[in-house]
This record gives sequence, C-alpha cells and structure tokens, in this order.
Amino acid sequence: MKRIGVFTSGGDAPGMNAAIRAVVRQAAVLGLEVVGIRRGYAGMIQGEFLPLGPRDVANILQRGGTVLLTARSQAFMTEEGRKKAYENLQQAGIEGLVAIGGDGTFRGAMRLIEEFRLPVVGVPGTIDNDLYGTDYTIGFDTAVNTALEAIDRIRDTAASHERVFLIEVMGRNSGFIALDVGIAGGAEVIALPEAPVDPRAVAEVLLESQRRGKTSSIVVVAEGAYPGGAEGLLRAIRSHAEVEARVTVLGHIQRGGSPTAKDRILASRLGAAAVEALVGGTSGVMVGEVEGEVELTPLKDAVERKKDIQRALLDLARVLSI
Ligand code: ATP
Repeated sequence: MKRIGVFTSGGDAPGMNAAIRAVVRQAAVLGLEVVGIRRGYAGMIQGEFLPLGPRDVANILQRGGTVLLTARSQAFMTEEGRKKAYENLQQAGIEGLVAIGGDGTFRGAMRLIEEFRLPVVGVPGTIDNDLYGTDYTIGFDTAVNTALEAIDRIRDTAASHERVFLIEVMGRNSGFIALDVGIAGGAEVIALPEAPVDPRAVAEVLLESQRRGKTSSIVVVAEGAYPGGAEGLLRAIRSHAEVEARVTVLGHIQRGGSPTAKDRILASRLGAAAVEALVGGTSGVMVGEVEGEVELTPLKDAVERKKDIQRALLDLARVLSI
C-alpha cells in the first residue's frame, strides 16, 4: 500500500482534527502518502481531494470541528454515487481509507468494502458514544464537559431563583451524555432513552425535593428520552402536578469547542492505530479503546451491537439526589 485516504463524515466531533493529524503523521512515518478527502462521502463523489503531509496538519490538534469538513450525502446512498466515489478514489491512486465518523459513516464504509473490495478502517468520531467496541468515542468527553459547564451556570440561576430546570442534552437514541452530565452535574432526575421515563414519578421526585427543603432541582433529559424532548416531558409533568420549571435546550453548543486532553489522546492513539491496521492488511474493522487497550472490532458489530449504559450509574444518581 502506497497511498491512503482519510475523511470525516456525519456529525462533527471535537478531536476529529487530532485523529486526522495522527493518521497523516503515522502514515508518513510508515512511508505512506495521505490524501485528505473533503466533505466526507459527498467530497468523495465530487473528487474533492488534497494531499496531506505532516506539516499540513500542524496546529489543528487543539481545534474543534474538522478541517476536512463533513457532510451527509444522499448520493452515496445510491449505487451510482458509490461507483463514482470509487472511480475517483481509484483515479487518485488511493488504496485504502481511514473513515472517521459514527455509525452511518461505518455503514457507508461497509458498502465500499463489499462492493469494491476497498480496504477501510474506521475511527469512532461522534459525541454520542453509541458505538460498540470502544469504551469512549472521540468527542464524547468534550461534549460532556461542555454540557456540564452550562449546567453549572444554570444551577447558579436555579438556586438563586429557587427553580426547577429541565436541561435537554444531545442523545436521540442513547443517553451516554445525559447520564454522565447528570451524575457530574448533580441532577435530581436523569431521563434517558434506555430507561422508561414516567412523568408522574418525575413530578413526585421534584415535589418531594421541595418538601425536603431543596431550593432548586435539575432534571437532565436526553433529547430522545421522551416525545418532544424536555419540553414534552415538562408538559407531561404539569399534567400531573403543579411544578414551576424552565426548559433549556443546550443544542449545538455541545458539538463544538477545543477537545479535552482525554479526547486528544484518544484521537491520537486511534488515528495512528487505524493506519497501522490498514497497512497490516486489516479491513472492515473499527479501532477502539477497551479498558485502556486498542482493540479492533468488526464494523458490523460496531454499528449493530448495542452498547449499554452503565445502569449502576443511574441507580447511583437516585441515591445521590436524596
Ligand atoms: P453521527 O453519529 O455523529 O450522526 P454518522 O456517521 O452516524 O455520525 P450519518 O449522517 O448517519 O452520520 O452518516 C454519514 C453518511 O454516511 C451519510 O450521509 C451517508 O452518506 C453515509 N451512509 C449512512 N448510512 C449508509 C448506508 N446504509 N449505506 C451507504 N452510505 C451510508
């Protein structure tokens, strides 16, 4: 293998740049050329390629987002689109790919492998942490810390005005962010898609908190925990009890920002490991970190197997909110 491509795809995540840098520099050390593909699969179809040497990735380690840009591509969902993408890759002499993204990105990569026998190794880059085969995904730690900072500020207001706040964090299908943020932010209630949410029980917890003399309460709600997110949950709570509460939706501020040290280290390690795997003749896997060690997991398992939340943490939240 002489030349490989690297791209970021799907939702951006802090640490993607650190991963790109690691891919480029590890490849250079192994004597490989690297081509950066802009805008994910969309750029692959449009032929948006640029050579990347070690100096081209200077000063990006600490930057959020992705210098290669990212996109969602409908065209890549069609056979015709993928054929065009493959032809462009072939023309550019790209013999293997490092795909940095989430489950959609990996599903696309599996298509390239199946249809064209093109070697691809995946790097888990998504704030959601919802990929099997790695304890943490790149961007998760930063997103949790960003959301936590916001919650700490809201807590100041909540305490001063003696109010209840429902804070919606990202997580349509998974509650990893909500759970960590809820524990670290001292939430009275944490609502996750993985556990049934009973508005009546939430109302009861909030009223009971007031009776116990709490001046403020925080409810952390993953966006997919309840129909209509935090707003929907508040409406349902109010149909059971008189609760004075405000809703804050954190939204996209959770995606951006400079990656934490933890995310930079994870991204650096996994970016380099992906190149090593690819050069070693491995394809169709995601590189992840499990209990401190780099592990390879088939892409199929990474996207199809369910990574469960730590239910013990959910129980702990209940204990600590007394
Ligand atoms: P995040 O989890 O942060 O949203 P993601 O990688 O899951 O990231 P998606 O938008 O789901 O983001 O996927 C990125 C792109 O991958 C899609 O826009 C599409 O081009 C491609 N893709 C997704 N699923 C498939 C599939 N089944 N076949 C071919 N391509 C796919």
